[in-house]
Amino acid sequence: MPSVMELEASSEIQDLRTRVSDFLTDFIYPNEPVLLKHNEESARTMKAIQAKAKERNLWALGLPKEIGGGGLDFMPYVFVNEIVGRSEFAIAGLGTHSAQDATMLYLYGNPEQKKRWMMPLVNGDIYPCFSMTEPEVSGADPTGLRTRAVQDGDEWVITGHKWFSSGANHAAYTTVMAVTEPDAPAYERFSMILVPTDTPGFEIVLVVPVMGETEGGHCELRFNDVRVPLTNLLGPRGQAFKIAQRRLGPGRIYHCMRWLGQAQRAFELMVERAMNRQAFGGPLADKQTVQNWIADSAAEIQAARLLTLNAAAKIDLGDEARVEISLIKFFGAKVLHDVIDRAIQVHGAMGVSEDTPLARMYRHARFARIYDGPDEVHRMVVSRRIVSEFKKGRKWNFSGGVRNGAGFR
Ligand SMILES: Cc1cc2nc3c(=O)[nH]c(=O)nc-3n(C[C@H](O)[C@H](O)[C@H](O)COP(=O)(O)OP(=O)(O)OC[C@H]3O[C@@H](n4cnc5c(N)ncnc54)[C@H](O)[C@@H]3O)c2cc1C
Repeated sequence: MPSVMELEASSEIQDLRTRVSDFLTDFIYPNEPVLLKHNEESARTMKAIQAKAKERNLWALGLPKEIGGGGLDFMPYVFVNEIVGRSEFAIAGLGTHSAQDATMLYLYGNPEQKKRWMMPLVNGDIYPCFSMTEPEVSGADPTGLRTRAVQDGDEWVITGHKWFSSGANHAAYTTVMAVTEPDAPAYERFSMILVPTDTPGFEIVLVVPVMGETEGGHCELRFNDVRVPLTNLLGPRGQAFKIAQRRLGPGRIYHCMRWLGQAQRAFELMVERAMNRQAFGGPLADKQTVQNWIADSAAEIQAARLLTLNAAAKIDLGDEARVEISLIKFFGAKVLHDVIDRAIQVHGAMGVSEDTPLARMYRHARFARIYDGPDEVHRMVVSRRIVSEFKKGRKWNFSGGVRNGAGFR
């Protein structure tokens, strides 16, 4: 394991982070009011920003060069995500938005799937979506999902009901998790199947409003005997959980680094407001409660950052780092939420208006405690693993944890 001292970006990566940060300053922050509108003007603006990112060699930095990405190694890309996370629009602006889906296709796609979906995804020409969650059964325990895909000749026939397929209303295709092996053990029952959104029987029932917003496109879907060729299977039959894990592990590190970027932006807004707003004869920054909020937020951001870099370093060494990833998933989401909450409080009424990015950041931070596994499930994973070590007569090793097994990457 690298020591804590080594968990910092090299000067080369610092330079890249500065270039990404300058890109946000020049093209993302000034355009946020337009991009927020989610209309034709914002789509045009986003396209122009994406072209600038390509011109500056900042496009899809974490994807392999051979498929049109920037070819950054894992750890440098982890550090870049901390900057990207400062604005939700930097994710699509810099071609990071479809990285997880493009990676799944890169690792498991057949040549036809790569040509049809992966290359346009990497290029930013199409959007993907992912359909796992179902309204009728627990998404936290996805072994109970009911959507079925049955082989009929050289086609899959898919029947089911999904929701929270984010971005389905703009996506060219969705990756559906469906039962294909009903008699197999729970974690080998499901396969991933690619379904173009213009396939007959694919129905968007509703864009579910989420805390007053519909622009996230969290769609309720029905698959009414949707037929796609057998060759639309992604990876081997029955391996959906394995593929999902491969997608989610490093993906959660990127998420957490982006949350840290968001938390730092909220923190900066809080400190600036506390310095400039006068009440009871002096700035808010002189009141002890506000000082506590600043100090607590600084401590929590620093702690979450070290925790995330520690998990990333383990993954970089080939470890699955399941415990470390679960730790940062629930701890990082709480830090994000609490820092934004304090920043809103320091802004008073302005904090809940749309005059600062804070209200929107707060809504999205609330979602972070649910998607990619709710907090409680990640706590369960951590606790179960630690207790199982104690049952074997061992203790938990905080200087490196226990190896979960090599060969993840
Ligand atoms: C903004 C947003 C975007 C999303 N995008 C997508 C997407 O693109 N594609 C997709 O397929 N899904 C998506 N989801 C859905 C997400 O994956 C699920 O919401 C999540 O897996 C939880 O499933 P559920 O909603 O069915 O909650 P449930 O499984 O019903 O759980 C409800 C609550 O029960 C509690 N709970 C569950 N298990 C335990 C336990 N073991 N111990 C203690 N408490 C427990 C937790 O508090 C949990 O929040 C998205 C969700 C959100 C909020």
